[in-house]
Amino acid sequence: MSGTPGASGASGASVDSSWRGDNSDNGSVGKTQQLPPLLSMVVPPPTFSPSHLGVADECLLRAVLGSARVVASLPAHPAADVGTAFHLLLERSIRGEITRMGTAEEDAERTLDEILIEANRRFAARLPEASSVVLKDVWSPLLWRRKVRRVIDLAVRQMEGGGSAAPAYSGVLAHGGVGLALSDLGSVRTFAEVRMRASDLRLAGRADVVERSAGHITIRDLKTGRVTDPDGSVSPHVARQLRVYGLMARRQEPAAAVRLVVDDGTEREVPFGPKEEAETEEWVRATMARVPSGVPVDADQLARFGPACDGCGFRHVCPEYRQRAPEAWSSGAKHRIPLDTWGRLTDVQGAEDRHRVRLVDAAGRSVSITGLLPARTRGWYPGDLVSLFGLRTRDRHVGQDAVRQPLNFHETTVDDRRDRAWALAVFRDESQS
Ligand code: SF4
Repeated sequence: MSGTPGASGASGASVDSSWRGDNSDNGSVGKTQQLPPLLSMVVPPPTFSPSHLGVADECLLRAVLGSARVVASLPAHPAADVGTAFHLLLERSIRGEITRMGTAEEDAERTLDEILIEANRRFAARLPEASSVVLKDVWSPLLWRRKVRRVIDLAVRQMEGGGSAAPAYSGVLAHGGVGLALSDLGSVRTFAEVRMRASDLRLAGRADVVERSAGHITIRDLKTGRVTDPDGSVSPHVARQLRVYGLMARRQEPAAAVRLVVDDGTEREVPFGPKEEAETEEWVRATMARVPSGVPVDADQLARFGPACDGCGFRHVCPEYRQRAPEAWSSGAKHRIPLDTWGRLTDVQGAEDRHRVRLVDAAGRSVSITGLLPARTRGWYPGDLVSLFGLRTRDRHVGQDAVRQPLNFHETTVDDRRDRAWALAVFRDESQS
């Protein structure tokens, strides 16, 4: 197929570390990088965090790569920056680290503004052009206000002493910013960022909030993004994540009754009785048996092309995705397909501020990408093989029964500055030129 990505040659999960696609500051972001080789083998880590393990049902390779942290991921959407900033606000509110000068709401808003200064600086540093864009510009004013309202309400609730399930949030952590281990906690108090571990199950993680009372442990996961499916139930991967926390808590405190709560402003209980505990333990053991610590595993054996690919940061190096996506571009899929494309350039045109390219993609289709910032296409010529991850489209691509991959993508548009591929990553594949 035209534009098939580079041959599988990586013997481990390590790829070009000069390109950091995560949210760290990086002066090279925006420039075209060489496409890293596809993964062939991966080395599973000794432990998994509940958040990464939560996606293992959908794709175990994604869980391994997320936990192992040895592969540079694609850039995250600015929603991740906002989530981190919101989480910091909640952490400070729980720890009593917000300086009180006015009402709880005023103080929470002031603290969030302070946190966002640094978050905006990091965000701007990642954009490929000098820009005055800030995080709130990514969303409509209404959506941004809703997001902020929700996290301020959550923070105020913590500052004012918690909701009905959280009667006494602690102001001080004995270990400062490092966080406490569950085993360090007193018997009746509430704590933030509590380290938990179940060594025999290879689990380690940090719970947002742990509330202790006599014989009871409540684990509260504070979420600022979507946590429910369209039918209103807690999403399976979120429920799985919470139950893994529950399993760790029971390992450390076998006599305690454990309650699990997802809190996105609304408290949503995740059932965790003996049946759920046994089922979760069985699932963890079966999952871990597939990925022995330190033993190289064929990446293809763990990968599963499906809904988890949309939002996965390892698409550029995933052999299963790079193999299966072009088939889905041609014939459609039952699940969302990431807005990526790769293939051989047939045309490169540009005005001073925006460029347009055409390519024949890996499924043999003629594809157009408009509104590219010039930094993206520097040194691109017809005949080159290029890959673009995280584009946008205005083509209608979700039908009644199948998702269809568009033929027209964009990075930016002239009429809506929010309609932009904020997490775009572009690569050249010189190995096949
Ligand atoms: S791209 Fe898809 S198949 Fe590959 S690791 Fe990510 S979720 Fe799994």
